[in-house]
Amino acid sequence: MQSYTVSDAWMVQRDTVRLTEQQQLVRESIREICEDFDAAYWRERDAAGEYPREFVDSLAEHGWFGALIPEEYDGAGMSTEEVVVMMEEIAANGGGFSAAQAVHGAIYNSVPLVKYGNEEMKENLLPAVARGEESIQAFGLTEPNAGSDSTSIETSAERDGDEFVINGQKIWISRVDASDYIVLMARTTPKETVDKRTRGMTMFLVELEEAFDQGALQIERIDKTASNFVHSFEMWFEDLRVSEDDVIGEEDEGFYQMLDGLNEERLVIASECVGLGEAALEASVDYAAEREVFGRPIGENQAIQHPLAEAYARIQAAKQMVYSAASAVESSEDAEAVGSQANMSKFLAADAAFEAADAAVQTHGGFGVAREYDVERYFREARLTRLVPITQQLALNYIGENLLDLPRSY
Ligand SMILES: Cc1cc2nc3c(=O)[nH]c(=O)nc-3n(C[C@H](O)[C@H](O)[C@H](O)COP(=O)(O)OP(=O)(O)OC[C@H]3O[C@@H](n4cnc5c(N)ncnc54)[C@H](O)[C@@H]3O)c2cc1C
Repeated sequence: MQSYTVSDAWMVQRDTVRLTEQQQLVRESIREICEDFDAAYWRERDAAGEYPREFVDSLAEHGWFGALIPEEYDGAGMSTEEVVVMMEEIAANGGGFSAAQAVHGAIYNSVPLVKYGNEEMKENLLPAVARGEESIQAFGLTEPNAGSDSTSIETSAERDGDEFVINGQKIWISRVDASDYIVLMARTTPKETVDKRTRGMTMFLVELEEAFDQGALQIERIDKTASNFVHSFEMWFEDLRVSEDDVIGEEDEGFYQMLDGLNEERLVIASECVGLGEAALEASVDYAAEREVFGRPIGENQAIQHPLAEAYARIQAAKQMVYSAASAVESSEDAEAVGSQANMSKFLAADAAFEAADAAVQTHGGFGVAREYDVERYFREARLTRLVPITQQLALNYIGENLLDLPRSY
């Protein structure tokens, strides 16, 4: 008789979305890479707070950092439809949300360059990024005095001849220590003097080593509890001089450039949440089937079974939405409709991941908080997904305003 383990059954049940041939190829390739990095690898990186360099290098060697870079710049020219598969697989195969976050910037921060960068910038940098020789892992928007209200950023870039002089402070900026460049948002025109608050912001490409060499940048790592191996930083810029050639796209139009691409990125984050929820459930289903208390597997108790079943249903529902929204990105001209789906996907997927991780901890009893069972890490990460890259409340604000036509609340 053919043996049929719980894991085999589970792997079958993850395939609830019909994939294109290209998506299947992405899935198989990413799974193959992930097989080299087992649960112990991620556990050790998390405990030590060490960036998963080997994993990142492996993805780079296989050309994945060029996922969204067009073929003419040596990239793979992939679509959002394929990137959601890639990031879901990274998270689902044991790495969780943090593994996806470790490389997320490397995939996404090249997008503004592709869409708005000048030809010299693209030719100099994009092929090297695609080959994994240079990285643009950091994106600097958030500031202590602005928070979610991102048009209130105070970091300024003042023109001085053919240069800009940048001053200000950023907070929570991830992967600065794993990056050669940062895409930096700064105000080139004060908020008080623009006709719309979304105007007057400019996107810069800043070489980090050059900023340190000028003595114009200081950074300090933030001590945090989730995503331990992906570090986030406070940054202080003091009289940093950059060339006007380092402006990505148009001066004063950086906010709109940032928004363009944000929906796709939110979808990809949602797929990372789906993958995290799936990893948490996989660990729990195995445990529920094996752990015996009162002489029977705990999975026989409905108090254990139902939360797992409910979390599974919610994860799969979120997954359906993510995948259908990702294919809509390819075919839809209506950016607002895609934006609504992206925000709903992110909201649903983050909540579903949280429920799955919570059920996973409960299923494990006391071992739910033991590092060796991994679900406590998934739980910490799932909590984080409700905060980043935008909070759940801000996603709801978007839905309220754009889908329900309710008054803007902020
Ligand atoms: C681990 C981590 C990594 C990050 N990486 C990056 C990065 O690489 N680059 C970057 O630029 N940023 C990054 N961020 C920042 C992240 O995007 C912000 O933390 C997030 O957008 C929320 O901003 P805030 O923390 O200032 O919260 P606040 O804006 O201070 O909000 C606090 C609370 O109030 C709620 N709130 C505020 N206004 C409203 C409103 N109008 N309606 C309803 N509720 C409201 C919020 O939802 C939230 O719950 C990261 C954050 C973390 C934690």
